This record gives sequence, structure tokens and C-alpha cells, in this order.
Amino acid sequence: MPELPEVETVARDLRGLIVGATITGARGDWPRAIASHPTVEAFADAVAGRRVEAVGRRAKLVVVEFSGGAAPGRDPAGRDPAGRDPAGRDPAGRDPAGRDPAALTIHLKMTGQLFVVPASAPSDRHVHVALALDDGREIRFRDIRKFGRVGCWPRDPATGAVLVGEGGAELFAGHGPEPLDDAFTLRAFRARLRPRRGRLKPLLLDQGFIAGVGNIYADEALWRARLHPLRSAATLRPPDEARLYRELRAILAEAIERRGSSIDDYTAPDGDGSMQERLDVYQRTGEPCPRCGRPIRRIVAGARATHFCSWCQRLPAADRPGAAAILRATRAPAAKGARTTMGRRWTELAAEGSLGLTPAEAERAAAKARAERTRRAAATRRADARAGAGGARARARAGEDA
Ligand SMILES: [Zn+2]
Repeated sequence: MPELPEVETVARDLRGLIVGATITGARGDWPRAIASHPTVEAFADAVAGRRVEAVGRRAKLVVVEFSGGAAPGRDPAGRDPAGRDPAGRDPAGRDPAGRDPAALTIHLKMTGQLFVVPASAPSDRHVHVALALDDGREIRFRDIRKFGRVGCWPRDPATGAVLVGEGGAELFAGHGPEPLDDAFTLRAFRARLRPRRGRLKPLLLDQGFIAGVGNIYADEALWRARLHPLRSAATLRPPDEARLYRELRAILAEAIERRGSSIDDYTAPDGDGSMQERLDVYQRTGEPCPRCGRPIRRIVAGARATHFCSWCQRLPAADRPGAAAILRATRAPAAKGARTTMGRRWTELAAEGSLGLTPAEAERAAAKARAERTRRAAATRRADARAGAGGARARARAGEDA
């Protein structure tokens, strides 16, 4: 599922493609993909004639700003005698055609993809909404699993907030801060973290705590920060908080630079990302931890697969009984009978049997092990050939090297 870096990449690609274009209409074959209107026709009426002013992102949603969408009054300079700003919006934020400010939101969810193509380009049955542009192109929303949603919402002319529903609730009211915002300082992170008592993994996934973080970057940030996913927020000391803050922001920024992780169906309008090559633990169950070489573990925490290194991400003694209880409660049936063992130097929360490898992960780990065995065997043969009678010693050395 696309997370902050993937959605940010989609928004940036889209920005380069559609800012300045005017939407002339919309078509679709799946009314439930429209969150804001009961029918595709009503949605088409709401978006037709709208000019795209900007494209941004909030949490995991792409936000397309229509003419009149940006809050007027923020910049009183440059208004004409009638109070219109340079884009022709009146003081109430209505565009030159008299439309109220509005924004288009796109939630990609599991499998949503956006493409901007000539209207004549071949389509397929997974394109459920298409917005026609005045230059002969279309924005196509393709979604194999149909969980994604688009909506055209009014904006509060005073604040620019996106409003939904009858009562005009703010769409993003329940969302936490953007982790890459300048205003999101270490101090701000601490202030949000300190009242929390939950475990770190579910906490990072909680969109009300911080917006935009999902399974991939939660696992990666925790591994980089050397914090166990089931560690409780209450046990973090100031240096732990600082590491988590730093690593979370670092991995999100790096992932944006690499256009996100092209895992599952994610792709951006301008093509795939490459961050998946830089992930250290996510979906690498059984592979050696890049830091210590011990196998990456996989557990289920908060109903989500969680990847970590039980050596590098140790659990304080105070957290172990609680974490063990969580694991007992969520253990997959395949792992029945696996015991939680407490090592002398680290807590092994799951024995081999409860690793719960997916077939793809098991295949990858097996392929890696096969390659390693082949390499060792070849090294031994070469050492034998070189050393002749002294082969035993050379073999021992080759074994040490490996
Ligand atoms: Zn490790």
C-alpha cells in the first residue's frame, strides 16, 4: 500500500503533468470509487470547468487544488480594486466562473494507480474513473482491487481546509502532523510521544499520531533506530526518541528521493521507484540482518506483518511479558507449538517455527542459502586445487572466510 513517499511521488509527477489544465468532464464505471457524490454524473458536474492550480499531498492522499481552492486572503497583496487575487478569485475564494473553492482528493489505498494519457490511448477494465482535460488528455484512476477513492470537496474559504459531509467536517481533522514538515521538530515529536503508552509499531501506523507512515517505513525506521516494534512508547529514553525521530524522517526523505518502493502494484505516473532495493528488513524474513547477520524475524503485530532483528532491536526486560502476551494472542495457526524463548543476551520472541514465511519470502531465503552453499563449495574446491596436500588447512581457511 502506498505510503507517504509513494503518494508524494505520485503528487509530484501529477503536478508536472496537469497544473494549468482544465477538467472538462469525468466518466466512470464504479460509483463507489467516488467518495463525495452518489453518482459519477454528479461528480462530473462538480469537477467540470475546474482549472488545476496545484497538486499536493496530505497524509496518504493526493490533493489536487482547483481554481479557488487555495485559501484566499492569505496574501492580500496583489489584489485588484474588486478584491480579486492574481488568479482572479474573489474575496470568498470563488474563481472567475463563480465557483466555490474546492479540492479533488485521491486515496490510492491498496492498488490505486494514476496515469495521464491521451484520451485515445487504450484503456483497460481496471480504469474506474477518468477525468478529461481540455488538452485532449485524461487523468485515469486505475484500481484492480477497487479500494481506492476519489472525491471533489468544498474548501473552507477562510482556512483552506477540505470539508466533507453535511456538517462540513474537516477531512484531515483526525490526522497527525506531517513528519517531514519543518514544524515537526524533535520537540514536537516528543510532545506527541510522551503521553502515549502503546507499542511502537502500532503507534507509528496510527494516522492520528503521525500522518503518512505505513507498514514498510515503520519497520524500516524501527530497525534503523534499533527499537523493537513491540517496545512500549513509555520505556523510551530521550536518546531513543531522538533516534526514532531522526531515522523516521531520514528514511521517508530517502524514499521520496528514490520515488518510493515499487512493491505490489505501486507505480507513479512517471514510472516506478527504487526504494525497495534499499529496504533492510521489510519482507526480508530469514535473510541476514545487514547490521549483525542474524536472520530477520517476522511477527504479526496489530494484525500487520512486522519485520525486525531480535538482536539489534532488543526489548527491555519490562516490556517482555507484555510483548510475549501479544505474540501468543496473534500467533498464526502455522506457528502453533512455537515457544517464546528468552535468550541470555537477547530476547528471541519467536522460534524458527513461528517465522511465518510467505511462499515468496521462503523462496528468496532458500535461493540465497543455495547461492551461499555453491559459493562455499567452489571456494573449497579452489583452495584444494591450490594447496594440494595442504588442502585441509586451506579448507579451514576458506571456511573461516565464508
Ligand atoms: Zn541485527
